[in-house]
Amino acid sequence: MATTERDLYEVLGVERGANDAAIKRAYRKLAQQWHPDVNKDPEAPARFKELSEAYQILSDPERRQRYDTFGRAGVDGAGGGAGTGFEGFGGFGDIFDAFFGGAANGAARRGRPQPGADLRYDLRITFEEAVKGVAKEIEFRVLDRCETCTGTGAKPGTEPVTCPQCQGRGEVRNVRQTMLGQMVNVSACPRCQGEGRIIETPCETCKGDGRTERKRTLQVSIPAGIDEGHQIRLTNEGEAGPRGGPPGSLYVAVHVTEHPSLKRDGTELYFQAQVSIAQAALGTTILVPTVDGGEEVEIKPGTQPDTEIRLRGKGVPHLRRAGSRGDLHVLVDVVVPTKLSKKQRDLLEAFAAEGGESTHASSGFFDKVRDALGS
Ligand SMILES: [Zn+2]
Ligand SMILES: [Zn+2]
Repeated sequence: MATTERDLYEVLGVERGANDAAIKRAYRKLAQQWHPDVNKDPEAPARFKELSEAYQILSDPERRQRYDTFGRAGVDGAGGGAGTGFEGFGGFGDIFDAFFGGAANGAARRGRPQPGADLRYDLRITFEEAVKGVAKEIEFRVLDRCETCTGTGAKPGTEPVTCPQCQGRGEVRNVRQTMLGQMVNVSACPRCQGEGRIIETPCETCKGDGRTERKRTLQVSIPAGIDEGHQIRLTNEGEAGPRGGPPGSLYVAVHVTEHPSLKRDGTELYFQAQVSIAQAALGTTILVPTVDGGEEVEIKPGTQPDTEIRLRGKGVPHLRRAGSRGDLHVLVDVVVPTKLSKKQRDLLEAFAAEGGESTHASSGFFDKVRDALGS
């Protein structure tokens, strides 16, 4: 065994009366210097081990006292002998705790069953359904709790037993060396996957998984105002967890089919209306599609291109503010004819001769007319 019988204070390079902080500081400095991962000196592993042993003893008041009184014999294990290896050391966690406040153990799961996976269901609805809300029935296949064993995974009449590898703790501890000494790594037990129990006689229906695939039908309530890409979360409707673990969630991803003539942006709707130059000049009534059916909208005489008419409250309901709705914006596009009959040309020329052209400086309307006529 490589363990030397050097004086432990000498190993750490401190006085016999050094306080705890000085011992810790000295150990930390030397451990970094001699860690085999960074120090390739063939002596490094032995030196590092020697340092660790010395610190292990001198950082423990009771063992330090025994060492001071009886020397090495006072602190070597009950089995005696100087050949104390790493494995023989109790309480590696002490070193870790000394430096990190014992935060090492938080991550491990202890005997807790794993939750089931979340699921996603893609649901397509119409534009009107999105605006008004709708109840939809969906059907999907899902890993559900096994009815034969009620989810335990054990054959009916048998029980899961305590895992022999971790004694039911669900976790195993691994010790590894690092710059700062031995680190205790706690991980889920590989035998029982952290559950703490194993099944010796599996259920024949689910082969011990505790789940079987089944068809599930659900009513999903789609709120008015939902939009493309929104997701509705249904807790506990996802996969069951293995062997009685809690179920995951079902996410219903909503897809909305576009309206042929209404464009949507959040709660606002947009409709592009087209009127002729004569309708724009003389005024008219157009039919605008809304989610409540067609609505007649007045185009006032003298309406200019790119005029916006706002139909308040005819947009999409606000998802989170009940009773509140957006607007429907009618964007008026004045269409200039590109082909004219003989009669239309004569009428427009007569119109121009009447002085219709004279307003072109203040309005783009007649410029468009002239451009279109190529004159
Ligand atoms: Zn079963
Ligand atoms: Zn285990």
